[in-house]
Amino acid sequence: MIDRARLTDLRRDEEARFVDLHPRSAALAEAQRVHLLAGVPMPWMTRWPGSFPVSVASARGGRLVDVDGLEYVDLCLGDTGAMAGHALPAATGAVADRMAAGATAMLPSEDGAWVGAELARRFGLPSWQLAISATDANRFVLRFARHLTGRPRVAVMDWCYHGTVDETLAVLSDDGRVVPRPGALGPQADVATTTAVVPFNDLDALDRRLADGDVAALLMEPALTNIGIVLPAPGYSEGVRELTRRHGVLLVIDETHTMCAGPGGATAAWGLEPDLLVVGKAIGGGIPCAAYGMTAEVAERLSGPMLGHDIDVAGVGGTLTGSALALAAIRATLSSALREEDFAVAVPLAERFTAGVAGAIDAHGLPWHVQRLGCRAEYWFCPPPPDGAAAAAAVDEELEGFLHLWCLIRGVLLTPFHNRALFCPAHTGADVDRHTEVFTEALAALTR
Ligand code: PMP
Repeated sequence: MIDRARLTDLRRDEEARFVDLHPRSAALAEAQRVHLLAGVPMPWMTRWPGSFPVSVASARGGRLVDVDGLEYVDLCLGDTGAMAGHALPAATGAVADRMAAGATAMLPSEDGAWVGAELARRFGLPSWQLAISATDANRFVLRFARHLTGRPRVAVMDWCYHGTVDETLAVLSDDGRVVPRPGALGPQADVATTTAVVPFNDLDALDRRLADGDVAALLMEPALTNIGIVLPAPGYSEGVRELTRRHGVLLVIDETHTMCAGPGGATAAWGLEPDLLVVGKAIGGGIPCAAYGMTAEVAERLSGPMLGHDIDVAGVGGTLTGSALALAAIRATLSSALREEDFAVAVPLAERFTAGVAGAIDAHGLPWHVQRLGCRAEYWFCPPPPDGAAAAAAVDEELEGFLHLWCLIRGVLLTPFHNRALFCPAHTGADVDRHTEVFTEALAALTR
């Protein structure tokens, strides 16, 4: 339904406008190319639309200002790292104070007990540890699972994403084999030997695969969020829990993104019962940190190895992990943000976004779809896909890149992956309406 020649012409015009509008970012991009691999400090930053990345000057709440002085409604929020809103005042103060009082000492600090209790209260699991990133937390949890079960493999959902964890960079091929995810770098350890992959929303496939008895843990998001949002079908989450129990497989829920569903993520919102849970990104208000929790039973089974002399070389933990700085950041963030009252503001904004996008799609007669989970929303260029593979098949990089660039030039930042928008309490109805207006104009230009 989209005329590709028109899309190419529009993209060329937008690209020229982008370059004109961002001279300072262009100069910084050139300087960065000298000594930064790919011209950026982290490779995902090359995924932004435009011929170079915009450099950020400052960000506060739901707004971001670039080095050319242009202001944006920021619906990326650091790809969830700033889900509480940028520069949260409580976290800013607590982090500054903690830096001044010593950031890292390889010792617990005053905030640890509060953080453990708050995570337990929110997610309903009694025992917690910290990690630097959600990737790290997932790695540790998978190591524990293999240790506890003596089984070699981990199971994940087709087209999942859980960070740079080797075992999880796997998908199903057309003929049902476990193969490296397209784009995964290096000859990895052969994922066919480490990983079982099952389609989301398919209990029969999960049952068949777990019955082999070689899977230590099923690591999953309660709803897929990394290939657009794919919600669980009615009864699916309960079925997953029943099957993992029946086959002696530890159920690990990764709430790093689905914390958008509420203060205790989808786990609390939907009454899930994971054996282990991982959460990262947003909980430190921007300071790198993550946490993983577990049931009393898992904690009891891990208590021996956790106290062993060789725990420092056991493959879990890290020098800067659980630092006084991280704990202060988590305490300040969780005591002032991502609470019931914050979601009560952010979720209606996401609903307003979803209604605006759906209205524009309908008005232009496109077969597209918008999906929402809590304060996160995404749209696709197809009807709602039932699983990750269907969602992946509908990715249209050309169209996606154009829409992101069109929005950016008009002052709205979407996450550079998929068509993802995230809302914090500092956003306003006017911010949402700005996106609706810009998106509607884009559809008009595309279908004229
Ligand atoms: N889990 C999920 C569900 C994620 O979406 C991500 C990152 N997108 C991660 C884990 C990894 O987080 P990080 O990159 O901060 O390690």
